[in-house]
Amino acid sequence: MPDRTESESRKLLGRLSAVMAATSVGQTRLDRIVQLIASSMGCEVCSIYLFRDAETLELCATVGLKAEAVHQTRMRLGEGLVGRTARDRVVTNTANAPAERGFRYMPETGEERFSSFCGVPVQRLGEVLGVLVVQSRAARIYTPDEVYALEVVAMVLAEMTELGAFNGGEGGLSPRHQRPITFRGLSGQEGAVAGRVYLHEPRVVVTNPISEDPDKELARLNASIEALRAQVDEMLAGAGTVDSEEVGVLEAYRMFANSRSWLRRMEEDIRSGLSAEAAVEKEQSHARARMGQASDAYLRDRLHDLDDLSNRLLRILTGQGRDTGAAMPDSPVLVARNIGPGELLEYGKGALRAIVLEEGSVGSHAAIVARAWAIPLVIRAEGITTEALNGDLILVDGEQGIAHLRPDDIVRKAFEDKIAMLARAQERYADLRELPAQSLCGTVIGLHMNAGLMADLPSLPSSGAEGVGLFRTELQFLVRNQMPKRAELSALYARVMDAAKGKRVVFRTLDIGSDKVLSYMKPQDEPNPAMGWRAIRLGLDKPGVLRMQLQALIRAAAGRCLTVMFPFIANPGEFRLARAEFNKALERERILGHPLPDKVEVGAMLETPSLAFASYAFFREVDFLSVGGNDLKQFFFAADRENERVRRRYDMLESSFLELLSGIVGRCASAGTPLSFCGEDAGRPVEAVALAAMGFRMLSMRPASIGPVKSLLRRVNLQEARKVIDDARIRGDESVRPALTEWLARQP
Ligand code: PEP
Ligand code: MG
Repeated sequence: MPDRTESESRKLLGRLSAVMAATSVGQTRLDRIVQLIASSMGCEVCSIYLFRDAETLELCATVGLKAEAVHQTRMRLGEGLVGRTARDRVVTNTANAPAERGFRYMPETGEERFSSFCGVPVQRLGEVLGVLVVQSRAARIYTPDEVYALEVVAMVLAEMTELGAFNGGEGGLSPRHQRPITFRGLSGQEGAVAGRVYLHEPRVVVTNPISEDPDKELARLNASIEALRAQVDEMLAGAGTVDSEEVGVLEAYRMFANSRSWLRRMEEDIRSGLSAEAAVEKEQSHARARMGQASDAYLRDRLHDLDDLSNRLLRILTGQGRDTGAAMPDSPVLVARNIGPGELLEYGKGALRAIVLEEGSVGSHAAIVARAWAIPLVIRAEGITTEALNGDLILVDGEQGIAHLRPDDIVRKAFEDKIAMLARAQERYADLRELPAQSLCGTVIGLHMNAGLMADLPSLPSSGAEGVGLFRTELQFLVRNQMPKRAELSALYARVMDAAKGKRVVFRTLDIGSDKVLSYMKPQDEPNPAMGWRAIRLGLDKPGVLRMQLQALIRAAAGRCLTVMFPFIANPGEFRLARAEFNKALERERILGHPLPDKVEVGAMLETPSLAFASYAFFREVDFLSVGGNDLKQFFFAADRENERVRRRYDMLESSFLELLSGIVGRCASAGTPLSFCGEDAGRPVEAVALAAMGFRMLSMRPASIGPVKSLLRRVNLQEARKVIDDARIRGDESVRPALTEWLARQP
């Protein structure tokens, strides 16, 4: 940008700065600003449109258009050239506005006289707050310098809007971040909680978007960039193994931190009158807008890296660290774009009431930890980190995947009723804690819990579980930055067994691969990781880790019963090899003279349809089998368990799936092999009744599910339930769910 334009732009920003400093109401400021821009740029019209609500833009100030149109002219997002500019977050620059696609004539404004139109989105951190428009009679395209100057001004307008500079005055805007908003995401973990927002990364507040001393700002920017580079180098030096995924990300960070073009753009913004912080935000907004449009996953990831780096730079510049000193409110609900399991665990069990994420997935590690803590989790709550402020009231409905931010009284009341209803149900379940899950026909079902972290163990007595039916050992590996040592693991497993106080704990060996990726292991580039090199396949091909883990388990169990289960066994051969590894590990320990477990049980997870059809010899060979319904269902129906679109299409209660289960139950019964079910469906009361009726005598589930499942099992006659299921299957019903739920509804 030539010097002459730069100094003009600085002059304009200097005047805007004076408007901001003056004590006047919002409308007066807006009116003054459009006058300043129009006279400085020599155009006949300058208008500012701001969002009145999430979908409606309103003409808030103008020079050149009819004054009566102010606060009257409104358009929806995407409507007309203004709406299009806001929706697409790109500049609209045309010499012949009426000929443009989507043009909409607004007669009350008198704009028909103006041929050229340039609209620039007013956006802050990727959130569009409005549109700044200039128009002229002459048919002309605005020059790149003019557009750039408008973008700089739009950046300042965005900061002023955020700071509330335009609130108040007749027809003026109401303050931002005060309206009730409902975010509809997805359920990561059930539960209903009312709490106060606690932002994981507090938003950076820029109070000085304009600067009159570019040299000082350039020096600040450069010093901060230096500090940023040093931070990234330090992180790289501290990162684990070469070519791990983490190193890849950090390399990308380093590339951006050293990028000349990124720095040059920010320097240009500063020379035009922006402060260093505003310059960083301006470029960050651009990157976010591009991120929303990029269809290429690699490009999106890189833009994401740049976004992250910009946040770091802003924190260095403003001195606002991760911890802004904001006090943790009572009943804190953590709100974040995303969070890793390690960071989440740092908050500690019991510290948070719920979690709401803008990104994340059901199978993410954060979801696993939230489940272990039994707190509601909502994922994909788009836009929540830009809307929520620390301390805002928030109602989290984990079951529906909904978060109500700053709810109105009606929503609040309805939610209180829901919480009270759930609490009453919990009290009823607590009364059942010491009672067996015995059905009316006298069948007793063993209810066990799924776990994976030490933090889960206190739930063992409180939930009424009879033991741990599935201990997912990979969680310990996932929450670390490096491979745990054998001695550490052994100590941990011993603590788990101590905490279980003699109750059975089924340790599943490492199930990594698929969606469970260890940051310190070389990532595999597989086209279909769920069906790829995972779980026991990886364990048998690279037996070092499996052997280390088996040794740790054997040492931990000295003098007690050790129950080990191998995941994802697809044929008997895999089980035999895995068991041979276990026997070798036992033998090695014996030779070394270490105390051995006094009893061992070695079983397999049945998670692939192939294993259901394995030979009878196999069913006799295993000490026990546990159906991993999550994976078994995904492979049976060929429906990815992580893909929300297909996941819900198929039901465990479909007759075809029950046919498969019935075969498994039959084979186990004739081989005399104990059988359990440990997928998520075991924790759903109706499904649990079906499983028990089909012959499963042991179910393993989240601790919070034990109460509801026990409560229903104690109220039904499983022989009658079996008859209902069999009749539906004989009739040819595609699913037994309608018949079963209808029958359940008739039970007293
Ligand atoms: C399953 O697949 O059902 C299971 C219990 O294992 P995970 O959910 O850990 O894959
Ligand atoms: Mg599984």
